[in-house]
Amino acid sequence: MSMFQDIPVDVGVIYEGERIRRKDMHVELGGPDIKEKFELARVKRMEEVEDGKISIIGPDLKDMEEGKSYHFGILIEVAGAKLEPELEGVIERRIHAYCNYIEGFMHLNQRYDIWLRLSKKSYQKGLNSFQYIGKVLHRLFKSELPIIEKMQVTFITDAEKVRDLYNEALQIYEARDARARGLKDEEVDKFYGCILCQSFAPTHCCVITPQRYSNCGAISWFDARASANIDPKGPIFEIDSGELLDPVKGEYSGVNEAVKKRTLGEITKVWLYTAFGYPHTSCGCFEGVAFYIPEVDGFGIVHRGYKDVTVNGLAFSTLADSTAGGRQVDGFHGISIEYMRSPKFLQADGGYKRVVWMPKEVKERVKNFIPAELADKIATEEEAKTIDELKAFLKERNHPVVESWKEEAVAIAEAVPAEAEAREEAAPAMVPTITAATLPITAGGYKIILKDAKIYAKRVIIRSVKSEKPEKR
Ligand code: SF4
Repeated sequence: MSMFQDIPVDVGVIYEGERIRRKDMHVELGGPDIKEKFELARVKRMEEVEDGKISIIGPDLKDMEEGKSYHFGILIEVAGAKLEPELEGVIERRIHAYCNYIEGFMHLNQRYDIWLRLSKKSYQKGLNSFQYIGKVLHRLFKSELPIIEKMQVTFITDAEKVRDLYNEALQIYEARDARARGLKDEEVDKFYGCILCQSFAPTHCCVITPQRYSNCGAISWFDARASANIDPKGPIFEIDSGELLDPVKGEYSGVNEAVKKRTLGEITKVWLYTAFGYPHTSCGCFEGVAFYIPEVDGFGIVHRGYKDVTVNGLAFSTLADSTAGGRQVDGFHGISIEYMRSPKFLQADGGYKRVVWMPKEVKERVKNFIPAELADKIATEEEAKTIDELKAFLKERNHPVVESWKEEAVAIAEAVPAEAEAREEAAPAMVPTITAATLPITAGGYKIILKDAKIYAKRVIIRSVKSEKPEKR
């Protein structure tokens, strides 16, 4: 792009989705090792913004030590006659996309959770100052969103200053989210879709409704509406909700049609309020994961910042791998924290009556939205670190899921005689079954990948490859 001739590296959509591994990074900004980090967009009055001004508070890229992680904040201030504070969330979310356009500059996540890396290669090419990053952002924002008349960018790397602004930013996010609460999905006839994350997960499409906040936790229904109004051809678009086909699961005819179109036929049906059947897809930017724990027939929740393993022995990163990629995976569900404040939260699965575990930090953030009678029945890492401890806790507190354990035990006991009588007929149920999210088969020089495959076989023969070597004569 000629508008970036003075930038030492290439800039373009082809770099979206580029990952920079630790061994290839020059420095890291924010990320899991740094507690306080943020990105924030603010709409200001015309006289408060100096167009094109780029400020750096703290060490610039060239002053940073190779291999280190730094406190980091990006503050974008914009002004324009038609700009409204409602657009702040949407402008802020575009930071993710536009930073990723820069060769060798990776941006992950959102808001208080950002994680950026600069590659060694791009640093060596001369990308050694935030001035360049600021110039790119300024030009991209102004060319893609002409409603922005003036824009200034401030990069903050001074740890103290980041800390101060981080606390301010948290209050601003909360005020923004609170504005969107109260409106019900049934009260509107338009929802919004977002495909901003298709560069990372090509079959992912967020459906943003008043009561199902975007997975990244950065775009409310109001934000999405404002975005679709100013940029109707952009990544956020209007969806006519259509007919409500299932009020409990949250199936709308218009959502099915829109998602099918935007995922090129890959996803044909979406149930908005459940983690089973046809759940909302998950890209990779979700704030948390709701994961089904079969041993207790309940859900655990874990957020991105949780460093320990969860109650089922798996870390967030492992659970996120099973969830991400624009798929619909039963029992692995990407969510935002704000969705946990919605009365529609996992409604079809029982809502909070089905939630059994979550980190203390998440519980604290959503405590006013958990029904009072359930608050003490949901364990955190302090009460349960293993499934056995969780079972004991749930039983002691008489969590509603415990009822289903009894029902299951009765059902199994009743089923036994019938099964014995009809052993012959039941034989097919004993056929070995292999279930896999992706099952690669290599044959004749081709690799065939079966997605979400369930294979029934009369016999399964597992033979070591070594044993198939021709015998010596
Ligand atoms: S998580 Fe969803 S709403 Fe958020 S940027 Fe990605 S696609 Fe858009």
